Amino acid sequence: MRLLLVEDDDALADGICRALRMAGYAVDRAPDGRHADTWLSEREYDLVILDLGLPGLDGSEVLRRLRARRQGLPVVVLSAREMLDERIRLLDLGADDYLVKPVATAELEARVRAHLRRGPSNADNRLHVGGLSLDLSG
Ligand code: CA
Repeated sequence: MRLLLVEDDDALADGICRALRMAGYAVDRAPDGRHADTWLSEREYDLVILDLGLPGLDGSEVLRRLRARRQGLPVVVLSAREMLDERIRLLDLGADDYLVKPVATAELEARVRAHLRRGPSNADNRLHVGGLSLDLSG
């Protein structure tokens, strides 16, 4: 299983990477949103852990672009802020989970396991035929 961790805080990223690698995952770490966006469009990942406050391109834009490319891999968002509006906005953008910092590594690992068990969400519930799209989720 290959994970992408997108986090600009070195100390936090090191800690999370170490824990996930010890748990047996291959982990790439992107230090900013632009790297994350490029890697996600070029490489295959099973799950993304995405910080929101990033230099260059923020996490919500990385997420929006990922879902616009119809990539259904699970996305676990890390945020410094516990705000209901933001949580709802991110879930609507296609995040699968939302954790508020400081993150307990054991909890993050448990959420990662849970999402990987479930596999990729079908981000696109619409059937596209020519110029028509039919929503199958209802
Ligand atoms: Ca950050």
